[in-house]
Amino acid sequence: MPNSFRTGLGTDIHRFRKGLPLILGGLEIPHTHGLVGHSDADALLHAVTDALLGALAEGDIGEHFPPSDSRFKNAPSTEFLAFALERMQARGYRLSNLDAVITAEAPKIAPHRGALRENLARLLECSVSQVSVKAKTAEGLDAVGARRALHVQVLVLLEPTPKK
Ligand code: MG
Repeated sequence: MPNSFRTGLGTDIHRFRKGLPLILGGLEIPHTHGLVGHSDADALLHAVTDALLGALAEGDIGEHFPPSDSRFKNAPSTEFLAFALERMQARGYRLSNLDAVITAEAPKIAPHRGALRENLARLLECSVSQVSVKAKTAEGLDAVGARRALHVQVLVLLEPTPKK
């Protein structure tokens, strides 16, 4: 059994395009624009997946699910997250807590914060109190500020799963 805590960082950025569905945290958020990507372009789940893989020092999402592989075209990102969760459990860890920051000028994330936390907790098999989702704007600066992209940062802490 592992005997130490492990922390991991994941970040992601995707470009907005008009008319696409906006998939975030496994949910569809009503908006005029969605994110462009090879999979369903769920930047939040990509960053969570990368944070978990980072905590385990098991590479990154692009290594396990290369965009060049046509099997992952339009793939639901819940699949990538499930893979990382399985690796975490196999290694004898469970999530202690997760903190996410979503940066976008639009849509407003705050009205969806509760639903995002609940869905992340469901996907991560933990309680809502272990999952934080925060939202910011980029104050009109850079590509995010120009409404061309959405950016996500996620930090996780893993703890050894207690022996039964
Ligand atoms: Mg991505």
